[in-house]
Amino acid sequence: MSRRLHVLIAGGGIGGLCLAQGLRRAGVEVTVFERAASPDAFREGYRIHLDPDGSRALHSCLPPERYALLRGACGRPPRSFAFLTEGLRELLAVDVTPPGSTPDPIATHLSVNRFTLRQVLLDGLDDVVRFGKEFVRYERTNDGVTAFFADGSHATGSVLVGAEGTRSRVRAQLLPHANRIDTGVVTVAGRVALDPDVRALLPDHLATGPAMILAPGGVNMFLATHEQDGSGAETPAHMLPPNGEDYLVWALGARPHALPARSPLDELDGPALHRLALSVTRTWNPRITQLVHRTDPQTVQFLRIHTAVPVEPWPAGPVTLLGDAIHSMPPSRGIGANTALRDASLLRTKLVEADRNRVDLTTAIGDYEHEMRRYGFAAVKASVRALEQSVTENPLAFFASKTGLRLINALPSVKNRIFA
Ligand SMILES: Cc1cc2nc3c(=O)[nH]c(=O)nc-3n(C[C@H](O)[C@H](O)[C@H](O)COP(=O)(O)OP(=O)(O)OC[C@H]3O[C@@H](n4cnc5c(N)ncnc54)[C@H](O)[C@@H]3O)c2cc1C
Repeated sequence: MSRRLHVLIAGGGIGGLCLAQGLRRAGVEVTVFERAASPDAFREGYRIHLDPDGSRALHSCLPPERYALLRGACGRPPRSFAFLTEGLRELLAVDVTPPGSTPDPIATHLSVNRFTLRQVLLDGLDDVVRFGKEFVRYERTNDGVTAFFADGSHATGSVLVGAEGTRSRVRAQLLPHANRIDTGVVTVAGRVALDPDVRALLPDHLATGPAMILAPGGVNMFLATHEQDGSGAETPAHMLPPNGEDYLVWALGARPHALPARSPLDELDGPALHRLALSVTRTWNPRITQLVHRTDPQTVQFLRIHTAVPVEPWPAGPVTLLGDAIHSMPPSRGIGANTALRDASLLRTKLVEADRNRVDLTTAIGDYEHEMRRYGFAAVKASVRALEQSVTENPLAFFASKTGLRLINALPSVKNRIFA
């Protein structure tokens, strides 16, 4: 017997909302249950780097006019990525679009404020997203699944997608053995507005894209600017972040013992973390010391970096997972959100096929999970490897990796082949 689907999504974050947009666009009934009380509850301000996977997924799920809105709201796109020493000497600089290749207008690199991305993804979903709905547990029914919420309410549908991020309760119930572990690496990050004095201090490489400083002793610093390029004039005011100025974000990464802190890092407030970052960068190029010095201490935050551990295949059913709920990863490669968006686009394609009765629902979800596990856990592995390389404390290994980067940099044909 043929029947149309009703898809329940727990979690209205980047992946869940992208899936909802895609299903809506294809005429599939969908409801999103988001824990936050209202759209105004989202105040995250940092930029997010969208890569070709993420941009392609957004293009496939968003209606054309909303995709155009997103592109208009993006900042100046990154054109390069550089590895630098703490003295700001170039180790390796790579063009995002290798010379000689034709840039794809859709599968491209973009920089967008996280708040703006979420607001664009919420646009047009007023009747789809239910706020103040904290998912608690689910029960399988004869022909679907019922989701239960902390306020005592419940909802029944044919499919439940757990998209509630790293602490997913859908995952905890579906795959209780799926682990997340502490990588042992921490990050201390701050944000500084790009006024003319700060702009004058920016390392030259930041004019075209983000950079990663590799310092001795297992310490690194990621730096990226977010700058509106003027073409976002059409962006509605409510989609712009509360303090909409251009800014630089920096993030120090290290194992805790490599940082000169007297108290446990979790106990330090913004000003204490700021003093810590100043003390780490004291002997670095004075531009970096100054950039950290000019950062508002209240913006400085601490984060322990966790990662998912690959999970063996499980039998497909009407409950599935996407994004950080299944394959959370360190931010070292900047691909967590991009992978969540890729999941959303793939799952949407499979669910639309099931909704049109071209394939049965279990097969559709099984096909999605098979593919998602392959690229999702490959992304986890690549992110963990990049994280570990960036905090190498062994002086020999550090020297070898710097020499390797310099060597590749000196051989443009090799460099282009590696990064093509
Ligand atoms: C510092 C940092 C920088 C990063 N930079 C990048 C980058 O540049 N590029 C990139 O690709 N990735 C980046 N990432 C990773 C990226 O942020 C995540 O991978 C991405 O947000 C995952 O999307 P998601 O939809 O799976 O989960 P989320 O975006 O976390 O959304 C989960 C949603 O579920 C809701 N929720 C939680 N629990 C419940 C519940 N019980 N019931 C209902 N709702 C619930 C939450 O409120 C939230 O809205 C970065 C991460 C960090 C920490």
